[in-house]
Amino acid sequence: QIQRALRILSIPLERLHVMKGHMIEDMCKGLSRQTHAQAKVRMLPTYICSTPNGTEKGNFLVVELCQTQVRTLLVTLYGDGNLSPQMMYKIYDLPEGITQGEGEALFDFIAQCVAQFLAETTSPDTDSEQCLPLGFVFPFTCRQTQLNKAELLSWSKGFNCSGVVGKDVVALLQAAIDKQARPDKEGEATGGGGWFKSKKSSQSAPGQSRHVEVVALMNDTVGTMMTCSMEGRACEVAMVADKGSNCCFMAEAYLVETAEETSGRMCVNTEWGCFGDDGPLNDLFTPYDQAVDEESSNPGEKRFEKMVGTLYLGEIVRHVLIALTAEKAMFTGTDAAILKEKGVFTMQHLLEIVNNEDSITEVKRILEALGLQPSERDCGRMQQICRAVLGRAATLHATGLAAILSYMCQTRDLESLMVNVGVEGELFAGYPRFEEILMSVSRLLAPECMATILASRDGSGRGAAMVTAVALRLAAQRRAVDEVLAPLRLSRDDLVKVQALMRSEMDRGLGKETNPSASVRMLPTYVTHTPDGTEKGDFLALDLGGTNFRVLVVRITEGGITMASEIYVIPVGITQGSGEELFDHIIDCIIDFQTKQNLVTQILPLGFTFSFPCQQVGLDKALLLTWTKGFSASGCVGQDVVQLLRDAAKRKRHLGMQVVALVNDTVGTMMACGYDDPKCEIGLIVGTGTNACYMEEMKNVGTVDGDQGRMCINMEWGAFGDNGCLDHLFTHFDHVVDETTINPGKQRFEKLISGMYLGEIVRQILVVMTQKDLLFQGKPCPKLQTKDIFKTKFLSTIELNGLALRQIRAILNELEIDASFEDCVLMREVCQTVSLRAAQLCAAGLAAVVEKMRENRGVDQLSVTVGVDGTLYKLHPCFSNNLQTTLKDLAPNCNVTFMLSEDGSGKGAALVAAVADRAA
Ligand code: ADP
Ligand code: MG
Repeated sequence: QIQRALRILSIPLERLHVMKGHMIEDMCKGLSRQTHAQAKVRMLPTYICSTPNGTEKGNFLVVELCQTQVRTLLVTLYGDGNLSPQMMYKIYDLPEGITQGEGEALFDFIAQCVAQFLAETTSPDTDSEQCLPLGFVFPFTCRQTQLNKAELLSWSKGFNCSGVVGKDVVALLQAAIDKQARPDKEGEATGGGGWFKSKKSSQSAPGQSRHVEVVALMNDTVGTMMTCSMEGRACEVAMVADKGSNCCFMAEAYLVETAEETSGRMCVNTEWGCFGDDGPLNDLFTPYDQAVDEESSNPGEKRFEKMVGTLYLGEIVRHVLIALTAEKAMFTGTDAAILKEKGVFTMQHLLEIVNNEDSITEVKRILEALGLQPSERDCGRMQQICRAVLGRAATLHATGLAAILSYMCQTRDLESLMVNVGVEGELFAGYPRFEEILMSVSRLLAPECMATILASRDGSGRGAAMVTAVALRLAAQRRAVDEVLAPLRLSRDDLVKVQALMRSEMDRGLGKETNPSASVRMLPTYVTHTPDGTEKGDFLALDLGGTNFRVLVVRITEGGITMASEIYVIPVGITQGSGEELFDHIIDCIIDFQTKQNLVTQILPLGFTFSFPCQQVGLDKALLLTWTKGFSASGCVGQDVVQLLRDAAKRKRHLGMQVVALVNDTVGTMMACGYDDPKCEIGLIVGTGTNACYMEEMKNVGTVDGDQGRMCINMEWGAFGDNGCLDHLFTHFDHVVDETTINPGKQRFEKLISGMYLGEIVRQILVVMTQKDLLFQGKPCPKLQTKDIFKTKFLSTIELNGLALRQIRAILNELEIDASFEDCVLMREVCQTVSLRAAQLCAAGLAAVVEKMRENRGVDQLSVTVGVDGTLYKLHPCFSNNLQTTLKDLAPNCNVTFMLSEDGSGKGAALVAAVADRAA
């Protein structure tokens, strides 16, 4: 019989695996908004989104409501890694009956304890004007909606004060504290000896009182996690193995659907004591557990807790003994009636028995003290039973822990997880094998995780102070971050204003007289038609002005378009050397390409995609106005680019081509998309630079003769704002970025939007945030001082949904930065702010364009397609979405479709040549 009893108390590994699976399922259920209400494992959000980092500093008050006492604590932190916090305690007994009385009386009493404690521990002269933050440890089930807002759901542990359930307990405590500070109706302070001052109070003399503010409410488990996070290491899981059992951990915030927070992490209080209440523990629940449950005050509830909580372990042992006695396997022939008495075996007894393994006499002494007459064999069996019950409790804790570790590892997208686990409680402290079992069993069940167990000392007190300190640190940091980022955050009004400014610059650019003073050049392109699908022929195309220089051959047939191309490098020395060198190099590349493609014997028409602002005077005649995007070859500005290319061909005696059109890349993009969608009458580029073109009515184009039909206008909107009209938008960061370019003061709109600059803007913000101690703990990062080291493609990676932490770390490693998780979250916010602003500004510009086209055509509703090219637009995870949403908002009467251009510069240049041919 004894063997059978011991066997059912030991759980085979496969069963533990199954239980771990159930625990993870229930955790997910608790986190999901849909299933949260029914979930037994409640997974309550705590609104604690950070662990201490050692910089916390100042005085923090803690008040903890315990079973029969109120504990107060004053902790002073020195910002020294929390190595030596100074602490003062005081304990006050709860008055008789207060736990059953009015809620107001309970909170008044707590406030009085705080007042008295302050009067005894602090001198009235020090820091008296400062607000003293208080953390409130309130170990009852609450629905928390903020760190300092929590509605009591139900009392437990014998408390039943009226008027509290459904109320915000933080507000109740704050009101009680403020009441202490106010003189009552008779004009006399109700208590606190003048130690309190409410925020608005002017009654108390200065230097005599201080304002106490409740900034955080928490549960004791969270406190445990926080105390273990001292001394420079982060602790992200905490377990309390005490009378009850509970666990909390730092979860990815977006998974905590019951809280609004979506970025970073949040501590979740699992409330795992109720695990099993809806069935999953049924096959592990023994007849002994059943008996304990039935005799408890809440049968059927907290079934996991009843198997592992120290309040119940003695009871389990008692029921094993009852069963064995009935089966005549123990205490045969003696009086064992005492076993019927609830609570005869305490946790203390169990610990004494297992911790004195060698001494049977100790067991005998304990049993005899209870009035039993054990034989030698009974004593041995008693030892075995106690060991089995305690061992099972440790094993079950380990299984729950394994579930949490695996869940963390999985949701953090890690192959393996290293984590510190803070543990506290009677079972952990009193049962030496607990830690060993916890480690070995959780390792078996979650082999991908490596947990380090840390013993917590006084989690609820010290930990609560830490929570309070962290909350204040985060609030201060938030204010500082918002201050840095505020100038980059644009309101709808800002965008409406940009749209209006763009519109007026467009009009000025189109007017013959006003054109010279407009920042948007509105250049005529001599492209008067979009494709109609009947174009055909073989063409050469050049694409210069982007990241790559390419030569292409494009075959347009009735069946569609086929292309072959080759990328050639233009060394920086040549882009910034002489114009002759540059165009000679281009011809060399064309010759090489034609040779490789077997095209030397033909004379092919060539479309030249040249993505720099040109004053076009014909389709094949275009004067370069200025270089952009890092080009500066000499002797080109003011010259006809087509002629420069023809001259180079002559120098190189190359006769295999005939330049028929010079095409801006925006136009090429529009034309390429127009081949597939006749509604495409706008071209947009968001790559290294940004620009747009669209089909304008000839009668509006004051700079070209003729009133019939339309002409594509190359806006050159990158220069929007160069006349100062956007100055109000430029931030400190934009100015710094602008100053380090080769064209300061120029292309101001582009420098807010395009790929060449976004990384730089982010870098400047990171530099400032580091200086302000908001990032990387203020440690300087020498590499971050290097221009262009922060690539715009990093924004794409960092902003990717679900926060691919590993990839962010990889980027940061490249920059030799040692970033914490919170640094990563903040970096993400910086990137999002910069890319959002870029997309919104781009949308404001586009809104001006589509609204103008709608007016031109005199329609209420315009349907139009935008052909888009550019790697930033194509690869950034949010840019296109942000652009489209903002555009919809700013131009609600335009139905705008976006079409990605595939190789617009090549295809488009050939189509311009072909359309010109067709029109002729
Ligand atoms: P171009 O505009 O020069 O013709 P692209 O359209 O390819 O060339 O744009 C290149 C620019 O796109 C680069 O300057 C870089 O800043 C940016 N970029 C490159 N990769 C990414 C990415 N993954 N996400 C966002 N931007 C990127
Ligand atoms: Mg391009």
